[in-house]
Formats: sequence, structure tokens, C-alpha cells
Amino acid sequence: MFLRLTKKSDLTPTIRAYTFSVDEPLNFIPGQFVMLKQPHAEQKFARAFSIVGTPGTRELTFLMKHFDDGHISGYLASAERGAMIEASLPLGRFTLNPADETRVFIASGTGIAPIISFLKNGAIAQTLFGVRSEADLFWTEHLPPAPDTHITLSQPSPNQTWTGLIGRVTAHLPALIAENKNAAWYVCGNPEMVRDVRALLLAANCEPANIHFEVY
Ligand SMILES: Cc1cc2nc3c(=O)[nH]c(=O)nc-3n(C[C@H](O)[C@H](O)[C@H](O)COP(=O)(O)OP(=O)(O)OC[C@H]3O[C@@H](n4cnc5c(N)ncnc54)[C@H](O)[C@@H]3O)c2cc1C
Repeated sequence: MFLRLTKKSDLTPTIRAYTFSVDEPLNFIPGQFVMLKQPHAEQKFARAFSIVGTPGTRELTFLMKHFDDGHISGYLASAERGAMIEASLPLGRFTLNPADETRVFIASGTGIAPIISFLKNGAIAQTLFGVRSEADLFWTEHLPPAPDTHITLSQPSPNQTWTGLIGRVTAHLPALIAENKNAAWYVCGNPEMVRDVRALLLAANCEPANIHFEVY
């Protein structure tokens, strides 16, 4: 399937949002991703990106960490509106279990993309989102209002006046676990964060079947 670039925006110095239109409405399950590649490029240059959007619409957005030399993020950074990109069908099992009674979402950086798809499509959950500093914050308006959202900065700038949580997401996990012992946990982001969160959840005797994760 081919996607046409309709909108691009710089969200932070390193994260960009790209919106595309697609000819036919796309059905996917919130949380899924597609493999994107430049038109006619070899399959080995395809990269995975989580879909931000609503199933059945003709508009898809991706949140991308920018790499100057990235096959996809680098290509899109210099692409004009109207440029085409090739996408696989939606893939992946990082999707919500309808049997969950309560849920907690945990994300770092662009790992918030599938979480925003969950939220946009009606999911309710305590959400813990971590980035490095104020300058790295983006799209917080898409997250549920306080007290359901917890935003933490691992390295807040000393010159700014951040009054929210400080530290890695793992620093705030014990409090969330205490309140949500039997919740289903959905964790997405960089490998170290996912590994550490998973280890803490298992150490707290959270049910392994209730721990869902997507590693970027
Ligand atoms: C299921 C899933 C969903 C994901 N969803 C997202 C998402 O929504 N947003 C997001 O930002 N990321 C997401 N990722 C991560 C993303 O797929 C990778 O970061 C991907 O590499 C980015 O592609 P790119 O084209 O931008 O950069 P790439 O071309 O992959 O380059 C990234 C960096 O790796 C280096 N590199 C490339 N090839 C090599 C090589 N052979 N050897 C050494 N270094 C190399 C480049 O120099 C560059 O610095 C997801 C990953 C998975 C598995």
C-alpha cells in the first residue's frame, strides 16, 4: 500500500510527526505498526513504525525519532508534501486485551505512539510517560488530564521551572504498582526502559500474562 505525505511537523529537536493519506480506509487494531519503506527500496530497508490514528479512516500519523541518515526518518525529513512511501499491512500483537479490568500505560519517547492510539480509541488507563527534559516533551495534550497522567523528566533542565515528576519511569513504578496491583500493563519504548519496567513488575508479582510490551 502507498501512503501520501500530507503534513509534517517538528515536535521536539529530535521527534517529528508525519501524517499521510491512504486511498482506501485502513483497518488496523490500535497498537499495531506498519513496515515503511521508500518506494521500490529493498525489503531490508523497511522500518517499523506504530500507527497513530483511528481504524477505518484514510489518515495515518507516525511519530518518528529523527536520524539524519535514517532510511525512513531521514528520507521523510527532506521529502515534500505529496511524497509517497510504501507501507505493509498492519502488523503486531501489542493490542489491548478486552478482558482487562484496569490498565496502566507506560511509555518513553516515541513509545507513546501506540499508547496514543489506545487512548484516541477510547481506552482508559493511568498513563506514565517519560522523556529526558522539558525540550523533549511533546503531545501531552493527547494524554488524559491529571491525575490519570504522570509525566516524568529524567534530566530536567536546571534553568527551567519543571514542577512535575523527576526521574526515570522506573522511579515512579512502585507507587503505580501499589495502586494497580491487578492491572494489565502496556509498556512501550526503548529496550532498557522496557526491560527494567518488566523486571520491576515481575518482581512485584504482577501476572506475566498481564504484562504487554513493545520494544523499539
Ligand atoms: C514494532 C516496532 C514499532 C516501532 N515504532 C516506532 C515509532 O512509532 N516511532 C519511532 O520513532 N520508532 C519506532 N520504532 C523503532 C524504529 O523502527 C527504528 O528506530 C528504526 O531503525 C528507525 O528507522 P529510520 O529509517 O529512521 O532509521 P535507520 O535507517 O534504521 O537508522 C537508525 C540509526 O541506525 C543506524 N544504522 C542503520 N543501519 C545500520 C547498520 N546496518 N549498522 C549500524 N547502524 C545502522 C543509522 O546510522 C541511524 O543512526 C519501532 C520499532 C518496532 C520494532
